[in-house]
Amino acid sequence: MPGQRLRSPHRFPVIRRCPPARLSGTDPIMVALFRRRAHDAARHVSRCSLVAVILFAVSLLGGGTGPAAAQSAAPQSCAGGGKDMTSAEGRIAFRDGADPSDLITVAAVGDVLLHDAVQKFAMTRPDGFASLFHPVADLTRGADIAFANLEGPAAAGITKTGRTTAPPDRLWDDWVYSGYPMFNYHPSVLDALKGAGFDVLLTANNHALDRYAVGADRTIDAIEAAGLNFTGTRKRGGSEPPWYAVTETMKDGKTRRIAWLGCTYGTNGLPDRHGQVLNCYRDKARALETIRALARRDDIDAVMFAPHWGAEYEHEPEPRQRALAGAAIEAGATAVIGTHPHVMQPVERHVARDGREGLIAYSLGNFVSNQISLARRSSLILLLGLAPDSKPDGAGKLRLAAFGWIPIWVRNEDGRMQVEAIDRAGPAAQRHLEHLQAHLPPANRLPASPDYWRQNACGPAHRQDRLTEEY
Ligand SMILES: [Zn+2]
Repeated sequence: MPGQRLRSPHRFPVIRRCPPARLSGTDPIMVALFRRRAHDAARHVSRCSLVAVILFAVSLLGGGTGPAAAQSAAPQSCAGGGKDMTSAEGRIAFRDGADPSDLITVAAVGDVLLHDAVQKFAMTRPDGFASLFHPVADLTRGADIAFANLEGPAAAGITKTGRTTAPPDRLWDDWVYSGYPMFNYHPSVLDALKGAGFDVLLTANNHALDRYAVGADRTIDAIEAAGLNFTGTRKRGGSEPPWYAVTETMKDGKTRRIAWLGCTYGTNGLPDRHGQVLNCYRDKARALETIRALARRDDIDAVMFAPHWGAEYEHEPEPRQRALAGAAIEAGATAVIGTHPHVMQPVERHVARDGREGLIAYSLGNFVSNQISLARRSSLILLLGLAPDSKPDGAGKLRLAAFGWIPIWVRNEDGRMQVEAIDRAGPAAQRHLEHLQAHLPPANRLPASPDYWRQNACGPAHRQDRLTEEY
């Protein structure tokens, strides 16, 4: 039974100001927001909280003391989008929330797609590729686990023709390290991603074999050397390592393990002679069985499915995307995190036949690229809040308790090229925000803060401040 479907563009209104006071007092996250410590509250004083204080004062003057009067004080009014952002306007919520302090947060971003111009720009920066991610690194580092799609090899010393040579000491030479259509990145991009807090990369995508079989091998070597996990490809050889990765995070003294399974619709016509890339459709049965097996394991708390799929530049998923996404949730996936179309596709809640709640994000768009249209420069940091399942039969597992998104864009002007949070980017980015709010539920939008689940959606983080630091 599919849940809320958020398909049509322009369905969501653009929220330009704080919504009016309104309660949804049963949401545990919102309730928890009220329990914020006093110094937190003081730190986040905003226009909205001023309104809330006035409302509170009015309610006191009116003499109300009952629950209704307490609710009319409405310090929640700006939290989580306030207003009637429930089913009618597509706010995605889950049956059971959780206290923010109990959540394990997974962050996911889209394509790391480094065209020639991006590689050349990084070459001019003292901190290389890290300069691309620096303005949002606090936001990705804040998650317990962060995911990105590495759209291309990071194969040291492999030329466009697949030959081995001495690696150049530059980040781009258009022979070993190059952009479209046969990408290959200097492996230092992996250190930059690691430094920005990323833990696991999707390596199954249509550019996975841009440096052929040897490039896929060397990419895996480089990813492991950087201390990162990966999913969807494997090295040649007889050992047949698993297609999935397992990331670990410690919470309340307990190690939580999240499994990641990636796949791609294809490899741009380059033959996969050694069976190094998991194909979402040709290998569908294997992918679904892997999800089922992972979901059954006592030592795995949640399963994330990361398909690289869909039609480029299309905002609507294909029927086969929908079918596979639903099947993955039914098989036991907690979430489906899609990439490839370079633009936003819908985010949906999907309730499995056994009652489990899943989330499907069909396409996260580009995290960084040199694609220049508005839609291809508008993206998000997708945030999933996971909490322990209290049900006896779900003992040890993590369930979805919260979904949010932080709007981001690629600044590509005046010689600067970097990913920025739109909240911190000034007026130039506002039309990107409007675009995103037409494709994503505005009520799930979160401020640009690594304190993801506690921030007031109308708080200071939403002020349109320019970055003070130039990158
Ligand atoms: Zn792709």
